[in-house]
Amino acid sequence: MTPFFIAGRPAASDDAVEIRHPYDGRPVGTTSNATPEQVEAAVAAAAAVAPEAAALPAHARAAALDHVSARLKERADEVARLITAENGKPLKWSRGEVARAVSTFRWAAEEARRFSGTLQRLDTDAAATGRLAVVRRVPRGPVLGISPFNFPLNLVAHKVAPALAAGAPIVLKPAPATPLSALLLGEILAETDLPAGVWSIVPIPNDRAAALVADPRLPVVSFTGSGPVGWQIRDAVPRKHVTLELGGNAAVVVCEDYDDLDWAATRIATFSNYQAGQSCIAVQRVYVHQRHYDALAERVVAAVEAQRTGDPNDEQTDVGPLISEDAAKRVEAWVSEAVAAGAKLLTGGARDGASYAPTVLAAAPADAKVTAEEVFGPVLVLERVASDADGFAAVNASQYGLQAGVFTRRLDRAFEAQRVLEVGGVIVGDVPSYRADQMPYGGVKGSGIGREGLASAMADYTEERVMVLTGL
Ligand code: NAD
Repeated sequence: MTPFFIAGRPAASDDAVEIRHPYDGRPVGTTSNATPEQVEAAVAAAAAVAPEAAALPAHARAAALDHVSARLKERADEVARLITAENGKPLKWSRGEVARAVSTFRWAAEEARRFSGTLQRLDTDAAATGRLAVVRRVPRGPVLGISPFNFPLNLVAHKVAPALAAGAPIVLKPAPATPLSALLLGEILAETDLPAGVWSIVPIPNDRAAALVADPRLPVVSFTGSGPVGWQIRDAVPRKHVTLELGGNAAVVVCEDYDDLDWAATRIATFSNYQAGQSCIAVQRVYVHQRHYDALAERVVAAVEAQRTGDPNDEQTDVGPLISEDAAKRVEAWVSEAVAAGAKLLTGGARDGASYAPTVLAAAPADAKVTAEEVFGPVLVLERVASDADGFAAVNASQYGLQAGVFTRRLDRAFEAQRVLEVGGVIVGDVPSYRADQMPYGGVKGSGIGREGLASAMADYTEERVMVLTGL
């Protein structure tokens, strides 16, 4: 049985949890849920060690983070296979996820080394002559990290790495469907010299998560997951510092000037289907200038049909199953609803167990779920627009705003997109499905509050504390 980790030490309970492969249902591992007493021990240890964690020298934080990065790299093949086994994503995408986590921990080590503070001169005012402010960031306290199933390693890394880099203890609650990758990360973290209590990884069922969210010893909650759960957390603890990385229905605009339709079509087809569309920034809505619509639609359909579906353990597979048969049935129902409401099915539209065929719809109504909600499946909606401005307006006609992709070569159009689009990020010349640890990442509107990316998350987990020196 795979152990979980309380205050950095392996632990287990009688409440066993079996994890099955989403593709064929075979058992791929067993762990157990932490008991309330074990969770209490993790939280108490995090609170007790907080001052020591905050005082850890930068070289010690960086050494631990570098170690995790190096060990993930050494064990990359094993980790990727475990991600595929519990999540069902094709091996090539799991390998990409591991490479990203290697980079996240390495970059976190760099950020730990440069995390300093600022000097602020105050003598701009005669009354403050001889005064100087030293501004440092101090951890707000232990962080509660809650992560979803779709990147079972990387979204854990995006919480654990900045916490350790900033000197904040973290209690991490992985997604119930995919705890094993997080626990393998725990195995590696346990090799470091970090003080006991600085990190814990506690699998627990959803109905016990609310108590953890409410615990006053965890003043920061960093949540990645679905909107309803995220907003409920925010409402439950209004006095806590809560970051929400939620869902979206990410859009692309193909502008009038754009001339490489083959590239655009390939990228759109790949990133509406990567991880079977189970990414918060998977391409879902595509608004195409009328000048290019027919040519692009033809290329997108061909590129989608070229995606290889099947066994995610096969290195050649592009699109594997969804996380469960229920998830695939929901996608099937949403596509049927859109077709009944007048959408045209250009390709796909078939379900086989937990797998759903890569699907392209045209002219789906704006209020159909496949347009207005987060599909979280391999479904793409194409729409013809009369102008680039109409495309931008259509992107904004959404309750969500995570990222958008804009295919243009015009600099003025790119800046216009950044100015007018109500999103956290605009990717120019590519799809919205892009995130790097050096950049802020997050959403507006229903897609959340706050930003991740290492520097942003470290700023989030800490607050400014000023010291004013006088008589200088
Ligand atoms: P989910 O909301 O069902 O679960 C996310 C996490 O919340 C899990 O760990 C779950 O156990 C926990 N949880 C469930 N109920 C809870 C409660 N009452 N209190 C506290 N925690 C609770 O999401 P999911 O299905 O695992 O993941 C898919 C969602 O995540 C999608 O909406 C996707 O867009 C979103 N997501 C967002 C980002 C981003 O960075 N914006 C990245 C990946 C996924």
